[in-house]
Amino acid sequence: MAKMRIDKLLSNTGFGTRKEVKGFIKEGLVTVNGRTVNDPGLIIETDKDDIIFNDEKIFYREYIYIMMNKPKGVISATYDPSEKTVLDLLPDDIKARKVFPAGRLDKDTEGLLLLTNDGILAHKLLSPKKHVYKKYYAEISGFIDEDDISLFSSGIVLNDGYKTMPADLEIISSGSISKVCVSIKEGKYHQIKRMFESLGSKVIYLKRLSMGYLNLDENLKEGEWRELTDDELKLLL
Ligand code: URA
Repeated sequence: MAKMRIDKLLSNTGFGTRKEVKGFIKEGLVTVNGRTVNDPGLIIETDKDDIIFNDEKIFYREYIYIMMNKPKGVISATYDPSEKTVLDLLPDDIKARKVFPAGRLDKDTEGLLLLTNDGILAHKLLSPKKHVYKKYYAEISGFIDEDDISLFSSGIVLNDGYKTMPADLEIISSGSISKVCVSIKEGKYHQIKRMFESLGSKVIYLKRLSMGYLNLDENLKEGEWRELTDDELKLLL
């Protein structure tokens, strides 16, 4: 049974910073088991106590799941001494919940990034054994044809000798700059860039569109984020 301070629980649930939440408690907006709370340090049992904030019953969620449309120029890490990270795009109350990116995108890659504090789900999404495909849209230099589709599906030998697992290549258009979608279930370092490098092409633009059945919300502009809905979360579990 999890125990936690009432101010921390409310802040973690997204009702404001610890300071703001303390203010709400002072205003008498919070009751626990029918009694108005005066002490922000009151310890509550998250799955037992009946917590009401501003006439609304609070259900505590231990884990948080965030979909972000990662922009170019930020790195997929929780901390970096010199670079801006994806965590810098989140407010303090979410950062305080110790979220981390479930899978990395390169600094110059855009698109779907999932941030969570649920280590088990992150492992499930990232382990190649779990066969969760991640789909990317890419623009690459040079022509591409049916032979490349076969190469991707039989596995491509990267510059370090590693042979990739079967990947799906879908050609949208072929030209001096070709447009494709690629789905892979592994996450080797710079994997898609290196797969095209092995074919003699260079990735010019890369954006992740989906992870498993979860698609990037097209309404999220670059750098924007939102929590997953319950239905979206079910797609991943
Ligand atoms: N493959 C890459 O090369 N870069 C990414 O960011 C993701 C997959």
